[in-house]
Amino acid sequence: MAAGSGLRALHLAAPFLLLFVLLRPPPVLPRGPPGAAERRCFCQVTGYLDDCTCDVETIDALNNYELFPRLNELLQSDYFRYYKVNLKKPCPFWNDNSHCGIRDCAVKPCPSNEVPDGIRSGSYKYSEEANNLAEECEEAERLGAVDGSLSEETQEAVLRWTQHDDSSDSFCEADDIHSPDAEYVDLLLNPERYTGYKGPDAWKIWNSIYEENCFKPQTVKRPLASGRGDDGGHTFYSWLKGVCVEKRAFYRLISGLHASINIHLSARYLLQDTWSEKKWGPNVTEFQQRFDEVVTRGEGPRRLKNLYFLYLIELRALSKALPFFERPGFQLYTGNKIHDAEIKNLLLEILHLAKSFPLHFDENSFFAGNKKEAAKLKEEFRLHFKNISKIMDCVGCFKCRLWGKLQTQGLGTALKILFSENLIEKIPESGPSYGFQLTRQEIVALFNAFGRISTSVKELENFRTILRNM
Ligand code: FAD
Repeated sequence: MAAGSGLRALHLAAPFLLLFVLLRPPPVLPRGPPGAAERRCFCQVTGYLDDCTCDVETIDALNNYELFPRLNELLQSDYFRYYKVNLKKPCPFWNDNSHCGIRDCAVKPCPSNEVPDGIRSGSYKYSEEANNLAEECEEAERLGAVDGSLSEETQEAVLRWTQHDDSSDSFCEADDIHSPDAEYVDLLLNPERYTGYKGPDAWKIWNSIYEENCFKPQTVKRPLASGRGDDGGHTFYSWLKGVCVEKRAFYRLISGLHASINIHLSARYLLQDTWSEKKWGPNVTEFQQRFDEVVTRGEGPRRLKNLYFLYLIELRALSKALPFFERPGFQLYTGNKIHDAEIKNLLLEILHLAKSFPLHFDENSFFAGNKKEAAKLKEEFRLHFKNISKIMDCVGCFKCRLWGKLQTQGLGTALKILFSENLIEKIPESGPSYGFQLTRQEIVALFNAFGRISTSVKELENFRTILRNM
């Protein structure tokens, strides 16, 4: 498997990375006529996206005026604000005791009496209706037999349930939420923003993700890679153009996620830090250093386009999941009946909006070739993504680790939905859905992850305005 000895070798290379950081001159932001700064970040971020029939402007219109405000409201609700996470899991790839002491990396876990009873008491693994069945099934599985006292219908369900291996369709290494180290975190009190996590530790994580897990041969250097072999991205883009659409998509999803994280830290930067006040807000210089076409030698606008690609993939997954969420028996259970029903209505409104989008990504072009080859490729894709979710346990800043884990679980859930289409189509309108399930954790991660990408797209509009007026 990819991550292993290679990741350890990367760990040994850390001192050289440090040397590179120290020797690297700070980037100089070019000056120019009015409007030039805006054009340098955004003039390439327009029109059609590669491998899709969709354009940036259509996404902006849907996101900024329709989806973003509704998602924001949804994610304030109790069901979506509490996420259970184990931040104490050791890094599986290298010895890492270097938990950063940066103040803004701290995560405040939630005292359990603050989490609504409905979420906490059952540790609701599935929606309420499926949960009862799942418990019966797990009990039967534990006993190693189908209990004769169950109704015939339930016995059949138990059999089908036990045959369903959850791990084979999962793209993520999810935390065991029953571990004593797993704690609820209130996401609204621990927002994703600038933390100061940077330098060789952060680079090692990004490097291992791209170098070990994005299908790329080590001989092909990434654009802007340090040292010899940086030919302005020429070799890299020739390689990327030549690989199959799935591998290209994999790279673009990761790059899109990376761009989103870096937009957030630029948009919610620590602008003022005095004993009496901390002020967070947009830092245009930080944004330009990461996305200006000249400073990044053309890479910035490509990264922003990858963000839109990621947006399209997650949007498509949401639209495909509608039949699962639409069933009358499905509840976003917190214990407050009236509020739960209101939040479900809002969620369905968002999913219908997602479905109405006219230029969806066509995932049927994925894994469409020779059946055996396609199955092999899909499995590789799944394992590579699982590896990336494991690397999140190596992130040295707890706040970054929290959001990294949540966003990889959210994207993993989106991929699980996209590749379970025929199971979702078979979900009966009433009664439990046997072949396809989403845990509460997966649902919370899916919508919060999409909320992050949606916020990034909205933030781009803000940066565009600031840069235009500069
Ligand atoms: P980095 O962003 O570290 O990038 C490393 C190299 O990758 C760059 O030199 C560049 O060549 C390349 N690269 C950069 N962006 C892309 C892209 N989109 N696509 C392809 N290649 C790219 N910091 C915070 O302040 N708050 C956070 O919440 C936060 N969360 C993080 C979560 C994770 C999982 C990780 C690994 C890091 C996180 N960080 C966070 C750190 C942040 O992402 C940067 O690593 C840090 O700010 C240093 O930035 P940099 O400019 O040195 O380049």
